[in-house]
Amino acid sequence: MSILLHVCCAPCLLYPARILANEGVDFTCYFYNPNIHPFREFRQRLETLKQLIDQRRYPCIIEPDYGLRDFLRAVVFGEDHRCSFCYSSRLTKTAQRAAGEGFNGFSTTLLYSRFQNHTAITNIGHHCSDEHAVPFIYHDFRVGWEEGIRESRELALYRQGYCGCIFSEEERYNKQSQNTSTDHHV
Ligand code: SF4
Repeated sequence: MSILLHVCCAPCLLYPARILANEGVDFTCYFYNPNIHPFREFRQRLETLKQLIDQRRYPCIIEPDYGLRDFLRAVVFGEDHRCSFCYSSRLTKTAQRAAGEGFNGFSTTLLYSRFQNHTAITNIGHHCSDEHAVPFIYHDFRVGWEEGIRESRELALYRQGYCGCIFSEEERYNKQSQNTSTDHHV
């Protein structure tokens, strides 16, 4: 079985990659994340992923365009509901490519994060599956949360401090300034 695996960042890839490999699933990584702001952060997360996929020789497709403007235009005036668009836009594109390029299914490393809305991601994944007639491969990768963190630290991978968009960056560091700091890698 070969699937297209949407990848949000390198640390979140570690555990899902292990599980899929153990199951004999042949996966190709797919980096499409116009929600990562600002550009230097986007570039850093992408470079970290490239470092990991080079080491592990994972096949990977990287969307060449950043997509910042389209992302911001889509969420402006609806910032409080932005995450649905964010999940949907990334999974739609993943499903489209998976269907168009002959993969047997698609999935996402977003299913690994304890900080994401797992139910929304799952529902959107199934919806995209119906829309594009390609199976959504669901796993609750969150069970490997601690293991993935440990491995990313051992590998000294860059670990981001906030989810991705400029709104999440503000929420993260405003909270921090109010003295509620913890490890908020997502
Ligand atoms: S908080 Fe995270 S999931 Fe929500 S819109 Fe921003 S980057 Fe996307």
